[in-house]
Amino acid sequence: MKTKFIFVTGGVVSSLGKGINASSIGRLLKCRGLKVFMQKLDPYINVDPGKMSPLQHGEVFVTDDGAETDLDLGHYERFIDENLNRYSSVTTGKIYLKVIEKERNGEYDGATVQVIPHITNEIKNSILNVAKTSKADIVITEIGGTVGDIESLPFLEAIRQFRRDIGYRDTMYIHNTLVPYLENSGELKTKPTQHSVKELRSLGINPDMIILRANRSIPQSQKEKIALFCDVDVEAVIEAQDQTILYEMPNIFAQQGVDSYICRHLGLNTAPLDLNKWSEMILKIKNLKGEVKIGLVGKYVALKDSYISVNESLKHGAYYNNTNIKIIPIDSGSLTNENIKTKLDGFQGIVIPGGFDSGHINGTMATIKFVRENKIPFLGICLGMHLSVIEYARNVLGFTAASSIEFDQATPMPIITVKESRKENGDSMRLGLYDCEIKPGTKAAAIYNKKTVKERHRHRYEINNEYIKFFSESDLTFSGFNNDENIVELMELNNHPFFIACQYRPEFLSRPNRPHPLFTSFISAAMQRHF
Ligand code: GLN
Repeated sequence: MKTKFIFVTGGVVSSLGKGINASSIGRLLKCRGLKVFMQKLDPYINVDPGKMSPLQHGEVFVTDDGAETDLDLGHYERFIDENLNRYSSVTTGKIYLKVIEKERNGEYDGATVQVIPHITNEIKNSILNVAKTSKADIVITEIGGTVGDIESLPFLEAIRQFRRDIGYRDTMYIHNTLVPYLENSGELKTKPTQHSVKELRSLGINPDMIILRANRSIPQSQKEKIALFCDVDVEAVIEAQDQTILYEMPNIFAQQGVDSYICRHLGLNTAPLDLNKWSEMILKIKNLKGEVKIGLVGKYVALKDSYISVNESLKHGAYYNNTNIKIIPIDSGSLTNENIKTKLDGFQGIVIPGGFDSGHINGTMATIKFVRENKIPFLGICLGMHLSVIEYARNVLGFTAASSIEFDQATPMPIITVKESRKENGDSMRLGLYDCEIKPGTKAAAIYNKKTVKERHRHRYEINNEYIKFFSESDLTFSGFNNDENIVELMELNNHPFFIACQYRPEFLSRPNRPHPLFTSFISAAMQRHF
């Protein structure tokens, strides 16, 4: 089958949830038996989000093939349950870099290099590339930003041209807007949608479907008005009310016939929609009993999006265990050995996610000491593992000088270090999927029930193998290794209900319908802690 393309744009305001809407459409089309792949076009000039602050941009998501991408790819993967790749994440910076490289290599034969056609051609190539590499029936491409922004103009122009290149029935434009409710007049207002669609049409894009975000149900008369003013079929005016369970959005769209309309527009003859499994999952989520209280101790908690995949994975773990979950973000900078008991009082489990640099190390170390000594279920991720090993070396084995060269370059005992080969490679990061061999007989082996697992990574530093022997008689077991590079991937404490820390980032592989075993087992352990 020839690939068909759906383009998702947004107007009126940012943070409309268009990533969730795009992913939900992806899930519906997958449940009609289609092979779906997704892509995000981001208008910023950074080449990728790898070097962007999590406090500004939120989490950096990592794909199997090691691309550092926008966090929306995490939503896509969680909804459509497909592993995306580096072609799924494109930025203005990446496009310009490619065009400038080609220009320097003389590939344009001396032509004047311009936004149209050179930049737009490169954007269109990136869309075609994702279709080619994925061999998907449907590629859903979300354009970041808001229609009307200067930065997104080349992307919008490229998708306008795309329809002309590929054909009307092989492309679909879905525009997302906000329908605000005015308390004083007690009315939902359609004018911002009309203006946003007008703006889009002025760029030559006539939306085929409009998705309206609102905090209440939109009356049919208002939908008819939008259909008339915005020149779309009334069945293609869809509402997306605020949801407490994000994963329910596919069901909400299915009730409004979104997938049938899309298939009709694209001329697709598919199997009927089979959303049974997904609906069972939603029913389960709606009937969770009790609550487990988890503390997320990190440096970037000021922005909710910084740890979005960890948050979602914890929720998946809770769904699996049939419990509600309360995740309380705790600023690691606010913690000390003195206040830790009061600050962490009442938590059934603590997670320390990945992090960078020397900031907040003391508070994080205080947390680890506290959960270790008080037998509070603990999951440490990446930096969380580094600090767990350092804390143990210092406070249990008595190596007070133990440290990481990430935050103490001159340490006499660098138990966390960086491989020479990585330094030679331009101080590169270890990114993407690598094998981890699980040591038989460990807690990790019982949790994974597999000998080899593949996990995604994003780190530069790792455990210094020279120091492994120092732990051999101790209660700390290194329970997972990458044999190709000889890297410790996992550690656990034997005499503790649940103290596991990993070098990799398990949160990038957890899906609501396929929760990650480290999260399900962590939540299960946390539930055993009663007060
Ligand atoms: N900063 C550490 C490193 O680069 C840990 C990375 C992480 O936690 N993602 O190795």
